[in-house]
Amino acid sequence: APQDNIRNFAIIAHIDHGKSTLADRLIQLCGGLTEREMKAQVLDSMDIERERGITIKAQTVRLTYKAQDGRDYVLNLIDTPGHVDFAYEVSRSLAACEGSLLVVDASQGVEAQTLANVYQALDNDHEIVPVLNKVDLPAAEPERIKQQIEDVIGIDASDAIEISAKTGVGVPAVLEAIVTRLPPPKGDREAPLKALLVDSWYDTYLGVVVLVRIVDGVLKKGMRIRMLGAEASHEVETVGVFTPKLVSWPELGPGELGFFTGSIKEVADTAVGDTITEERRRTAAPLPGFRPAQPVVFCGIFPVDAADFEDLRTAIGKLRLNDAAFTYEMETSAALGFGFRCGFLGLLHLEIVQERLSREFNLELIATAPSVIYKIRLTKGDEIELHNPADMPDPVKIVEIAEPWLRATILTPDEYLGAILKLCQDRRGIQVDLSYVGNRAMVQYDLPLNEVVFDFYDRLKSVSKGYASFDYHLTEYRVGDLVKMQILVNGEPVDALSMLVYRGAAERRGRAMCEKLKELIPPHMFQIPVQAAIGGNVIARETIRALRKDVLAKCYGGDVTRKRKLLDKQKAGKKKMRQFGKVDIPQEAFIAALKME
Ligand code: GDP
Ligand code: MG
Repeated sequence: APQDNIRNFAIIAHIDHGKSTLADRLIQLCGGLTEREMKAQVLDSMDIERERGITIKAQTVRLTYKAQDGRDYVLNLIDTPGHVDFAYEVSRSLAACEGSLLVVDASQGVEAQTLANVYQALDNDHEIVPVLNKVDLPAAEPERIKQQIEDVIGIDASDAIEISAKTGVGVPAVLEAIVTRLPPPKGDREAPLKALLVDSWYDTYLGVVVLVRIVDGVLKKGMRIRMLGAEASHEVETVGVFTPKLVSWPELGPGELGFFTGSIKEVADTAVGDTITEERRRTAAPLPGFRPAQPVVFCGIFPVDAADFEDLRTAIGKLRLNDAAFTYEMETSAALGFGFRCGFLGLLHLEIVQERLSREFNLELIATAPSVIYKIRLTKGDEIELHNPADMPDPVKIVEIAEPWLRATILTPDEYLGAILKLCQDRRGIQVDLSYVGNRAMVQYDLPLNEVVFDFYDRLKSVSKGYASFDYHLTEYRVGDLVKMQILVNGEPVDALSMLVYRGAAERRGRAMCEKLKELIPPHMFQIPVQAAIGGNVIARETIRALRKDVLAKCYGGDVTRKRKLLDKQKAGKKKMRQFGKVDIPQEAFIAALKME
């Protein structure tokens, strides 16, 4: 398509403000799919995305639109994820476009991710079209929200478009605004190929599919391309676009978005942000590129049944094919046997991977407590990175431990502010700023990531009845007074339950953990002490009383089938137990103990 008739845009919004619904509506209006193909939320294609109503992978669609000026336009839409764990995907999607539709729920107003996304769009020099969604709701206050956008974000919202993505009202005006208010891409067709590697994934039929934005030149089938960062060359086998169906296409010219496939073996062979050029005629000026997505939260994943280890290995390998941000390596635990130490972008990412492993591959799993990466300076002078509390060096060899901190932005209705400040304070937060946006408070805190990974988001939602929104970015490492807390069951340390904690919070955490385990571990024939300890010092203790009678005693003399049944039931129960010395700990105990505060 001639460049003047191309528009590339992202849809950015806080979660649930209606990005995906609007995207679906745009696809429908441009006739990208027939009525029958138009399933609810076409763009949220993964099962989990559809069920949870969130977008994980950014998606791209090429639409054709006949505008009021009578010309045909190609509109390339990128839907972006709204959750903070996937902020990385937002940034690379934005780099592939010239403009953004900023969708704001007209009944909710500006939220934490609205701000975070808008700042990223402005960093990418985007032209921004504000769109007020959900005007069909009785609670919608478009005029007030326009004012709020101007006050808080500082962009002109006087010509914001009022729409209901649900009913379709106002959506045609969005298409016109894309054409008239967003700039076309600028590129040189005659120059050597220069393309941005936006994303890549594994497709069962096509192999590795690479999503690209062409900056200069032309990408064609049969061409030999070079990835400058990865220092690899490949022959282009197919070139295509998404309408949103995958359709093969003769070529992609400057300003266009599309995909190609070639002899690429794994997603890991492609680096998001890399510059792609022609092997024989290379571009002189590579694109700036991106920092790779780094996992920040780690946990061990083990099969409940040790016999499932090979299945778990296969499943994890398959997941990784499509998710380069997820990392893993083998791990052995005295308590849990063979498993994997896995890295994630955040807690939601962790939950999603766990859920996919158990759902798509039908595996029963135990995950250990999530841990951040600590930097430990040793007496010998060197510094190590600790991904697993079980590998913590002897405390006498440690000079200091540093942990990652983040800066959080929280927006909340005024009435919940007190409870939120207390929550942040309890989590070692340091207040940076507090201001007002209409009747909403906007507070900034510096917090240790360690205090956020467990359940901060859940707690925040609960103390604000769901009204507070939250966004963060990692800032720096700071030295902290951190200690390793071990849990001992019947005198034996359970490695899977050990964690690094802030010394001031250790006793409370230890006590809570012991109390929880006391409820969760069934009584045995003997008394079982459950202890939390730092080094050799016990800081909390509970005791599980011994069983007084044999379970079978009740059936003594009773009929044999009943006795059989009871024994079978116990056996089935056993399979889900883990043995520690003489004690059986049910799988639920790990999950529950690790989940709690
Ligand atoms: P996303 O997280 O930004 O992608 O949001 P979704 O598109 O998934 O929408 C979140 C929820 O808001 C869904 O339940 C939608 O049905 C609903 N929704 C989206 N647009 C509208 C609208 O214009 N009016 C109303 N009443 N609900 C909407
Ligand atoms: Mg969505």
